Amino acid sequence: MKSIYFTFCAILLGVFFAQAARTVVVIDAGHGGKDLGCHPDKYYEKHFTLDTAYRVKALLDMRGVPNVMVRNNDYYLSLQQRVRKANKYSRAIFVSLHYNYTKSRSVRGIETFYFGGAGRSYSLAKSVHYSLLNRVYVNDRKVKPRSGLYVLKHTRHPAILVEGGFLSNKKEREAISKGAYRQALAEGIVEGICSFLGYKKRQILLQ
Ligand SMILES: [Zn+2]
Repeated sequence: MKSIYFTFCAILLGVFFAQAARTVVVIDAGHGGKDLGCHPDKYYEKHFTLDTAYRVKALLDMRGVPNVMVRNNDYYLSLQQRVRKANKYSRAIFVSLHYNYTKSRSVRGIETFYFGGAGRSYSLAKSVHYSLLNRVYVNDRKVKPRSGLYVLKHTRHPAILVEGGFLSNKKEREAISKGAYRQALAEGIVEGICSFLGYKKRQILLQ
């Protein structure tokens, strides 16, 4: 009887530590509140990033991947506050969602940024970037290192920033304004995250 009791306790502890050790996906919807992000022709980046973040969250929830949204509504957060939220977790990855803008209207495509060398952030960036390029047919602006992005530099977890297309390009702006495009983008991002975190495809389909 005693041994059954100890086995039971051991299983409970095992489950507890397995849960505690699971990596949390911190979803950062870029901009918000007074910070509109780019906003050509009243297409506000801050709204598209929040919508995409909700789609990413829903897909992660469906697959049983622990996650948290840095902001879940239209309010302002400083970059420091965003980093602080991410750094509260002992095991996490940080995925910042943005849409792009440049004065040259013909520039288009998706790019993914990371900070540092060929470490875990780079691996995460590659995994997410190429998964989402499988989902959306856009120009590949590649995975790029960036040293000047505060959230990437100061988050103590693998961290990436996805620029999901150019709001300054008419064709991409029209695509981004459609839910189907943002959904496809979210699906690609989540597939990349799951593959980086080692969730097997079979598990993903079953959950
Ligand atoms: Zn942005």
